[in-house]
Amino acid sequence: MPSSPLPAAANPAICSTPLAGNLCDYQLYIDGAFVPAQAGATLDSTDPVTCAVWAKVARADPSDVDRAVQAAHRAFHNPEWRGLSASARGALLRKLGDLIAQNADWLAQIEMKDNGKLIAELSVQMRYLPNYYYYYGGLADKVQGATIPTDKPGVLNYTRYEPMGVVACIMPWNSPLPLMAFKLAPALAAGNTVVLKPSEFTSASTLEFMKLVELAGFPKGVVNVVTGFGHEMGEALVTHPMVERIAFTGGPDAGRIIAEQAARSMKRVSLELGGKSPNIIFEDADLDQAVKGAVAGIFAASGQTCVAGSRLLLQRSIHDEVVQRLLAFLSDIRFGHPGDPDTQIAPISTAPQMRKIEDYVAIAQAEGAQLIRGGRRVEVSGYPDGLFYDPTIFTGVSNRMRIAQEEVFGPVLSIIPFEDEDDAVAIANDTIYGLAAGVWTRSLDRGVRMAERLRAGTVWVNNYRSTSVTSPFGGFGQSGIGREGGMTAILDYMELKSVWLSTNVEIPNPFIRR
Ligand code: NAD
Repeated sequence: MPSSPLPAAANPAICSTPLAGNLCDYQLYIDGAFVPAQAGATLDSTDPVTCAVWAKVARADPSDVDRAVQAAHRAFHNPEWRGLSASARGALLRKLGDLIAQNADWLAQIEMKDNGKLIAELSVQMRYLPNYYYYYGGLADKVQGATIPTDKPGVLNYTRYEPMGVVACIMPWNSPLPLMAFKLAPALAAGNTVVLKPSEFTSASTLEFMKLVELAGFPKGVVNVVTGFGHEMGEALVTHPMVERIAFTGGPDAGRIIAEQAARSMKRVSLELGGKSPNIIFEDADLDQAVKGAVAGIFAASGQTCVAGSRLLLQRSIHDEVVQRLLAFLSDIRFGHPGDPDTQIAPISTAPQMRKIEDYVAIAQAEGAQLIRGGRRVEVSGYPDGLFYDPTIFTGVSNRMRIAQEEVFGPVLSIIPFEDEDDAVAIANDTIYGLAAGVWTRSLDRGVRMAERLRAGTVWVNNYRSTSVTSPFGGFGQSGIGREGGMTAILDYMELKSVWLSTNVEIPNPFIRR
């Protein structure tokens, strides 16, 4: 098991309590303590490299959700947290950032075990992770209201931003800790308390992370974790009367259910959902870079990224050449254990996701798309049960096919030809989604024009997948509601209050509004 620089008492091993047979035992984290689910139920977490169970995770039910929300609600009203100045909250967040930095390698190992992502990419992600807590820690005491020069005499009117209360954060399995940080850091900086719900497939890193939260000195109950299946306990969390705000990242189906449930009690909701992002290569592009950009867009992390450039739009004049270059680039890729620094293609993270990929490949073939590479599982020496899937490419795809309209969330690329800029824009925007888009061109004018015309929350010109905590991220259309990242995100976790102070002792006619 990987070791960590954490003090031994806080981190005896990769997991809280080892069970017999080297299994890790993960419990809920409620009110500052690791506790089992009240009913004693657990679920299995499997390693996608071997498909073997490596951890037992508490399987919460609505009664556990209620315990966690109650704890967060008490903590919100406890002067230990509520009485902290914004500067003191910021200092706690920055301390948490320091602890993450010291433990980045350990956190990367846990995420690799749980979702099989490449350690090479995870190491970069985990070394970047402290920046979320530094950034929002720094912002905590810089949120300012305004003094409003109203047109009403005899009053002083000013605004103040206040925390909302209990925030529920629900995360998917593909990047557990970074996607959590996008929510947790601004929510805490704003003064809220939090109940985290990681994916049932990848709960371990979030629970281990709680040891760092404790070490940083957050009062108990400020951050809580419930683990389990969304369909079993999600509704209890989303509809709990003490939850004020829901921050969700995941698939469109769950997103729709959550939005509907939240609407019933007018809860504030942000949704970061899926996409069917176009990656567009023009004939004037630097094709060496563009081909690498196409590969980064869809085959990095085996396409299991929300921004996957799953539709590659190629100008017709360079279509065949780019296809040949792509095939050549992929001809000697290395599959292997995600912990091996030379591995380029790690396993698919979960068995259900593998089945979904296989289903969509069959759908594309039935629709008449031409399979020119992949479309099959790959057996990797030493890991006969590993969930490896060959990077898959379809040509002859029409944008109306399901393979061009529905999110696969896997290493499956649909190539669609286009004639000119107008055609590219029409095809690119012909989707219910609008999360991201890529444009490859040597023309600055065209890059700027395309960035204006594409309906997507993020447009990359001559790069793909760049993100930063300093920049807003989110989707148009059915890719979601709201933005994470950047300065404005902290305000999404606050209520704005307008205060009217009379400077005139005389109360005017009480029957007439001032
Ligand atoms: P998912 O929607 O199946 O699950 C996400 C989370 O929601 C899990 O924790 C799950 O337990 C929970 N959940 C499911 N049903 C729920 C319900 N009814 N109530 C409350 N919680 C519920 O998604 P997934 O398979 O874990 O992740 C893949 C999806 O996430 C893809 O669609 C991908 O595009 C999306 N994603 C989006 C972004 C983004 O920032 N836009 C980032 C990463 C992933």
